[in-house]
Amino acid sequence: MEKRYIGIDLGGTSMKMGIVDENGQVILEKEHPTLKEEGPDGVINRMIAHARELADLSHTSWQQIGGVGVGLPGFLDIPNGIARHLTNLGWTDVPIRDRLQAGLGLPVAIDNDANVAALGEAWCGAGAGVNDVVCITLGTGVGGGVIAGGRLLHGMNGFAGEIGHIQMDPDGHPCNCGQVGCLETISSATGMIRLANEAIAAGRSSLLREKAGQHQLSTRDLFEAASQNDEVAKEVIGQAVQALARALAMLSIVLNPARFIIGGGVSKAGDALFVPLRAAYRQRTQKNAQEGVEILPAKLGNRAGFIGAAGLIARREK
Ligand SMILES: [Zn+2]
Repeated sequence: MEKRYIGIDLGGTSMKMGIVDENGQVILEKEHPTLKEEGPDGVINRMIAHARELADLSHTSWQQIGGVGVGLPGFLDIPNGIARHLTNLGWTDVPIRDRLQAGLGLPVAIDNDANVAALGEAWCGAGAGVNDVVCITLGTGVGGGVIAGGRLLHGMNGFAGEIGHIQMDPDGHPCNCGQVGCLETISSATGMIRLANEAIAAGRSSLLREKAGQHQLSTRDLFEAASQNDEVAKEVIGQAVQALARALAMLSIVLNPARFIIGGGVSKAGDALFVPLRAAYRQRTQKNAQEGVEILPAKLGNRAGFIGAAGLIARREK
């Protein structure tokens, strides 16, 4: 009988979960509130109950399920299956893998949310069919995950793939990570909006000034203003694109991936982001390192997390 796998993408407000087949195709998916105020015990018990419910609703026998993978937002001890610090959830040192395994009677694997999203895209999204993929999420922060030779890269402390914290400017803005001038301070939505607000505060004239007076600026406002030839918006987007292209050039030298997959809210700008990004990447990257390399938008949206989480188990068995 064909095996099926359950993936859970646990966030601070909701848990997205799904049951997938051996190829990562989604059979059924559900979303439930996390209810983090119930604490680790309450949340873990509901993860178990919802996993069983997913099997029932999809007419999958428990024996048919090969295991459950979980993506978690924060710092993990992956070999020991422990959630060390999940800031969004307020969890410290929760042995989540063993607790789930005991409650489910199935193999359980955990990984961080950026890594499972990368694995999802690599498995059956924009990275399908190639073995070397780097995924970058441009949202509030800049997340990343690296699949090299078909495997997720973790490194010694699980920090591999945290592309948002490559230092681009040694004199740059302080980053949440304790460093300064990280890629995240320039190319995330937060970073781009900060740079636009700084330009406005410095007295630059811009279409964004009026918008900033009405509501919190968004990257959508920036791309819209840039399309109307607004200098400040074009500069901020240009900086974000150049910093990202430099990071991709470095990653090409170290990892030589076949594809860079870009997701997250900022990537919704489409060609306004991808066309200049590809051009800057071509210009900045050594010839052999960039040959045949593609820069593509992510395909799976917010389903990448639970699909990749299921892949932690599904791909391990092969
Ligand atoms: Zn940083």
